[in-house]
Amino acid sequence: MSGYAVVVGGGIGGLATAIGLRRIGWEVTVLERAAVLDDMGAGISLHANGMRALDALGVGEGVRRAARPQYTGGTRTPGGGRLARMDGAALERALGTPIVGIPRAALHRALREALPAGCVVTGAEVTAVDLSDPRRARVSTATGNGSGSAREADLVVAADGVRSRLRALVAPGHPGPAYSGSTVLRAITDRPVTLASDFELTWGRGAEFGHIAFADGRAEWHAVLNSPPGVRFPDPLAETRRRFGGWHAPIPALLDATRPGAVLHHDIHELVTPLPSFVAGRLALLGDAAHAMTPNLGQGACQALEDAVTLAAALAAESGPGRRRTASQPGAAPGVDAALVRYDAERRPRSQAVARAARQAGRMGQRLSHPLAVALRDTALRVAPSGATVRAILRHADWTAPRLTPPAATRQAESHGIE
Ligand code: FAD
Repeated sequence: MSGYAVVVGGGIGGLATAIGLRRIGWEVTVLERAAVLDDMGAGISLHANGMRALDALGVGEGVRRAARPQYTGGTRTPGGGRLARMDGAALERALGTPIVGIPRAALHRALREALPAGCVVTGAEVTAVDLSDPRRARVSTATGNGSGSAREADLVVAADGVRSRLRALVAPGHPGPAYSGSTVLRAITDRPVTLASDFELTWGRGAEFGHIAFADGRAEWHAVLNSPPGVRFPDPLAETRRRFGGWHAPIPALLDATRPGAVLHHDIHELVTPLPSFVAGRLALLGDAAHAMTPNLGQGACQALEDAVTLAAALAAESGPGRRRTASQPGAAPGVDAALVRYDAERRPRSQAVARAARQAGRMGQRLSHPLAVALRDTALRVAPSGATVRAILRHADWTAPRLTPPAATRQAESHGIE
């Protein structure tokens, strides 16, 4: 069986989904509302589960080449005292791959380049999806010039982010994302910085500063603060200096190597109320649309990558031999409904558990502000047995990706050059 899917959203989740579906023989169109396809965020770390998903999608090696393995680092106090150490080599021994750090733009590029020209349509905002026919979905799109178009698909994947418009089709009445209580300023340095460790987190009172070193010697840094929502600073870099400039090295050097205009500032939102389902009819939610979480475990994108591989594997597993359809001829692709049930069953419990754990990690880490609670946390971290950090990471990062293979019928057609 193969079919035609429309993916809404060209972020990490949407692009990964398109790659996965194409790998199992589906035809895919990604509709992205932005005029240019480019992830402007700073940097990202990918745990073993994310890397294994990228390997299953066939793009892991390319990402590794552009990334820097994160072997050394841990957690410190603002004065530089060591709270916990992270042994990246031990993680690599346990999981076969270390955590890697990569600029978001480089990850995005690696995903984009795995898709053929024309697969991603930019400047196309999805305004509605009609699910009234149980065997197909109708997607309405508005383009920049004010015109609209409609497409029919065997499957629509809503990878439209934390503020997903399509989420309401799956969970009408859901309250939507909630403000986490934390706001984040972040940037990539303009030039290489000498760093003693690949990555570091420093916890103060209701505040966190972290860095991730990149392969080219530059680094991303992020500064997270407890804050009411919507607070903005006239000069975000000056404000970051005011709050964190007195913290231990290399924090002042990271800020000195940053251009004022390079600092991004976002409030962090998450889905506190878990969704009762990730699917409705021929629509599947994926990535932040399904399970937006706080960044405290560095797992949001990794979970989106897991979603993408799991969805493609479920479709491949539930398919029988059948006709190859094209974008202009969607039909009742057999097995899609069973695959969506499987996707929901495999992904919802795991991603929601990771989201809960991320919130909890934030409560015990960055968000903690009472001096006594901070002192107790710091003491607990100092006396924790060595290896505790690695074990905590293993809890979420040790995920095995299913293999993605094209169905036999598609392989045969492709070997004969039939489209
Ligand atoms: P998005 O990246 O939000 O993409 C959604 C896309 O859909 C956008 O391009 C948007 O323009 C498009 N769109 C929306 N609506 C429509 C529409 N109606 N029609 C067409 N297009 C539409 N995760 C990690 O794994 N590791 C980390 O180290 C990490 N660090 C993080 C640090 C911070 C500060 C934050 C905030 C998050 C971090 N994350 C991390 C989480 C990660 O960034 C997200 O989970 C991930 O980017 C979500 O990808 P997505 O594709 O689901 O959504």
